[in-house]
Amino acid sequence: MKQQSLIATMADGAVLLDAEGRVVLVNPTARRLFRWEGRKLEGNELCQELPDVLAVELQPPLESLLAGDRDSSDVRCSFGEPARTLRIVLQSVRDATGESLKGIAVTVQDLTREVELNAAQSRFISNVSHELRTPLFNIKSYVETLHDLGDQLSEAEKQEFLGIANAETDRLTRLVNDVLDLSRLESDRIWNLEPVELRPAMEQTLRNYRLNADEKGVQLELDVDEQLPRVLGNWDLLLQVFDNLVGNGLKFTASGGRLALRAYPWPDSCQLDPSMAPTSENPTCELTAPLPRLRVEIADTGSGISREDQERIFERFYRVENAVHTEVGTGLGLSIVRGILEKHGTQVRMVSELGVGTTFWFDLPLEDADAEELRLARERRSPDQAALLG
Ligand code: ADP
Repeated sequence: MKQQSLIATMADGAVLLDAEGRVVLVNPTARRLFRWEGRKLEGNELCQELPDVLAVELQPPLESLLAGDRDSSDVRCSFGEPARTLRIVLQSVRDATGESLKGIAVTVQDLTREVELNAAQSRFISNVSHELRTPLFNIKSYVETLHDLGDQLSEAEKQEFLGIANAETDRLTRLVNDVLDLSRLESDRIWNLEPVELRPAMEQTLRNYRLNADEKGVQLELDVDEQLPRVLGNWDLLLQVFDNLVGNGLKFTASGGRLALRAYPWPDSCQLDPSMAPTSENPTCELTAPLPRLRVEIADTGSGISREDQERIFERFYRVENAVHTEVGTGLGLSIVRGILEKHGTQVRMVSELGVGTTFWFDLPLEDADAEELRLARERRSPDQAALLG
């Protein structure tokens, strides 16, 4: 009985087999992992009950354990759609003398998430290496030419080559900084959220871009109340969000356009009676956040983003093909924005229309927001981190 409750409460899946390989005990985790819910298994042979792919993998090691040829075996296999990866460890259970086999203990761990994370990580590393290689190659080529053939080049050519090598070095620096920012965001570190005045952060961002905007002939606007409630956030990270979004807005807005920064409290609560069943006549209503928040918008009258591209621009390294040739960038800016806002328990959203413009917006928790709700929101979002890696 003791054994039974021990096995039942194990976090891993566990199955106990007798000396003939028949099921004696199964714990709830194993039932879930093998999709055995509600089935009677006791007395049946293990391999008969498993999905075919698993049975094929498990049969040979199980037979050698039953024959006494070996005492343990460690098998990893994937099955099902969507694929899940399990690690299955078989261990012989012998009597006190160690002579005769009493049964086999099978433990099962779900490695699916680990495998997916590893795959995402490798994809990311291969993308980063690829992106690093291009500017490095360019720097190397131009510096090499200057070094080897410098005396045959005109002064103007030398200047041009140095200029290219210099610009490529900047590109490399941007890339490395962005990758470092992303990896900091993806670590499990909990960022300190404290009361932040948003208006000064927005003013500072616009100050930084003033010159650039004047040169481009784009008008910058700040549309924010003097008395804005404070939000719970991290000053440096929020400054980076503004910097990335305003930088993008400016990049993709032509002369004569406008870029506006807005912030206003947003009572994101439902005015309708939520108990009212939604019907086609009744307006429906979804309670997204019971607490008031501060809505922030960054709106430009720029090139806009097509519907297909809208779905992809938050992916790492994604850049809209025809728009980027003239513009500097790494394709990581929006991934960083998304990561930062997730750390604030919120999400960035957008509306955009080609040729009309783009507005990015998000809601930040107010200073007096319930800390507990924030924590829960963050926890709910953390599984999405894996997607962020993709
Ligand atoms: P980048 O470093 O290329 O700016 P981002 O992740 O910040 O990388 O943006 C990804 C792509 O999304 C950009 O290359 C651009 O094609 C598109 N994009 C982002 N912001 C805007 C905007 N405000 N207007 C039009 N296109 C945009």
